[in-house]
Amino acid sequence: MNPLENIRIVLVEPQSSGNIGSVCRVMKNMGITDLALINPHERHDWEEARRLACHAGDLLNARKVFPSLEKTVADCTVVAGTSARTGLHRDHAGLPREIAPIILDSAAYHKTALVFGREDTGLTKEELAVCTHIINIPSSKAYQSLNLSHAVMVCCYELFLLAADSSYQPPRERSPETSVEMRERVYERWSQMMIKTEFCAPEKLEHMMLGLRRIFSRGKLTDNDARILLGLAQQSLWVVDQWKKRKESSEPPI
Ligand code: SAH
Repeated sequence: MNPLENIRIVLVEPQSSGNIGSVCRVMKNMGITDLALINPHERHDWEEARRLACHAGDLLNARKVFPSLEKTVADCTVVAGTSARTGLHRDHAGLPREIAPIILDSAAYHKTALVFGREDTGLTKEELAVCTHIINIPSSKAYQSLNLSHAVMVCCYELFLLAADSSYQPPRERSPETSVEMRERVYERWSQMMIKTEFCAPEKLEHMMLGLRRIFSRGKLTDNDARILLGLAQQSLWVVDQWKKRKESSEPPI
């Protein structure tokens, strides 16, 4: 299948109706058709959006609406968030050109997503945490933040170029790549394990989890990998429970 059909463009709480229309146009120009909006407000001027979409009104009509990022990308493998800023929570950001092959390799077989933030405040740190990769578009220090639809264009252009290159062959994989839904289950279970085993204090958990998310996002995580990670956490939780029970009944620990 055409990998571009497996790429979802996600706009988180877009504020400008015109931007939504411009994004539709950019997407159609670059052969990408799946548009998801998270919590668009009720005062959007859809006529304005349609004017800016021009001949991409079909994408605007086909838009899907979701209540949260986690729900929007639950079925996706690679989820690339975009940020105008670098630094804290974003210091592993890559160029669109570096992340494009990672998205496309996965999009040959699975759903993937590119996530764009609010025009005024971008993506929250919780939303960035759901993303497996972060993209930063280099821009002038004098004004680093691009218009939303321009940022979508730069990213989609790299994907379009790579997909059009017929010499590009995405690698075949043995075990399917795992979804965001499964990843989130792993992170949930691992946080419980880290607290119960007293590996880290509750106030350090958030920071530790960011590190862990980054480690697990560095390579491809397959369904098999995710099942092993879930099993390991499950077994550790069980052992800690047994140990605590024995301690309470003053038996020697196992
Ligand atoms: N003031 C916000 C900028 C929001 S711009 C902030 O500092 O985060 C709206 C969205 O466009 C961003 O959330 C991001 O998705 C995208 N964007 C804008 N400039 C970008 C850049 N230089 N690199 C990557 N994405 C960018």
